[in-house]
Amino acid sequence: MFWDKEIELLPREDLEALQLARLKKTVEVAANAPHYRKAFADNGITHEQLGSLDDLRRLPFTTKQDLRSGFPDGFLAVDRSEVVRMHASSGTTGTATVVYHTLKDVERWTDLVSRCLYMAGVRASDVFQNMMSYGLFTGGLGLHYGAEKLGVMVIPMGIGNSKRQITFMQQFGTTVAHIIPSYSLKLLETFDEMGIDPTKDTGLRILVVGAEPHSEEVRGRIEEAYGVFAVNSYGLSEMNGPGVAFECPHKSGIHLWEDSYILEIVNPETLEPLPDGEIGEIVLTTLRREAMPLIRYRTRDLAMVMPGTCSCGRAHRRLSRIKGRSDDMLIVKGVNVYPIQVEQVLMGFEEVGNNYLIVLDRQGPVDEMTVRIEVTSSLLAQGLEGLEALRGKIIRSLREEILFTPKVELVEPGLIPAGEGKAVRVVDNRPKE
Ligand code: AMP
Ligand code: ZN
Repeated sequence: MFWDKEIELLPREDLEALQLARLKKTVEVAANAPHYRKAFADNGITHEQLGSLDDLRRLPFTTKQDLRSGFPDGFLAVDRSEVVRMHASSGTTGTATVVYHTLKDVERWTDLVSRCLYMAGVRASDVFQNMMSYGLFTGGLGLHYGAEKLGVMVIPMGIGNSKRQITFMQQFGTTVAHIIPSYSLKLLETFDEMGIDPTKDTGLRILVVGAEPHSEEVRGRIEEAYGVFAVNSYGLSEMNGPGVAFECPHKSGIHLWEDSYILEIVNPETLEPLPDGEIGEIVLTTLRREAMPLIRYRTRDLAMVMPGTCSCGRAHRRLSRIKGRSDDMLIVKGVNVYPIQVEQVLMGFEEVGNNYLIVLDRQGPVDEMTVRIEVTSSLLAQGLEGLEALRGKIIRSLREEILFTPKVELVEPGLIPAGEGKAVRVVDNRPKE
């Protein structure tokens, strides 16, 4: 059950004592980096003044903008010669940011990923197909190293080439795959074309899905279509990448490894801490990083801490599913909408297919939201009446969720473009103010 029993089962009190000791060390090391040397001097704080975990709040936040301003070496806390690896974030929301690792950093990251996989039930006898992009993106190498350390045979496929992916699954008896959730749904079309049923004709038993927000409804669809446990994996390049938080088989939130990170949830406007059960911005501090420690990093990801403890016995607290990033929030007709709210509604209808797109336009002064939705072939076969009935139902359910009436267009399966990387769910054609 446990990869690192002692750490995973550490009682809360001991876990917090460990965090404090590691925080002091982290702040001491971080002070070697130009950015933090200045930031700590401005705050008048040193690691010696940290007497309790509450003192964390005396430390400055670090933002994505800080990382950009410090590009490329402003956050480097060791000599360049000690660095063995760099990664860069996808840059979906602006210029890319770079993260450096020493050999020890890579080893610790690897161990965290092994811990995650082991917790989800992956064992040395498994065959692991890594269907994530290798290279600067951390999902490739991060999972690769973690799976290898666990003793699994790794197939480093990378993304794309759907038919070959499926053929390999069959030829090499893949039991565990790492895949972007939207792509896993898209891949079902290729399974269908090839006349292969993933539940019967492959040995798949676990799909590690992450890297983008996805609803419980989407997880349900993946589990049913593939006959697997679809385990939620959360991470971001700034915090290494995968291995930050992972779901245990109890499926009641994602355990964030608190021996390696300090977790805070704050109100993104006031930056005040929020209690368990309230959704806010995830703020993380690295506790075991040498090359590039980050203090109170504002991830912009929104989630809450699940109240209570998990029946698996781990004291490491659990995050809810990620609702999206604060910058994913759309303001339409003055109303705040997260794409994931739309997804939840759509995926609740079994006649709805596996892809959708939200398109925003402006007609004169008025915003318009169109939700374009693929429907299943069996619904199409039933003709216009069935389609109109579904359209009406979807409009009503969406209105209840988002509080205004969107336009809904139903289209044939395969008509909405889908890539192999993180899904694009929103096209905003409104003029920039
Ligand atoms: P990157 O640094 O390019 O790997 O992107 C990391 C971002 O992907 C995170 O900050 C999240 O916004 C998103 N992400 C990663 N894993 C998940 C997940 N399991 N659920 C929702 N969003 C995720
Ligand atoms: Zn658990």
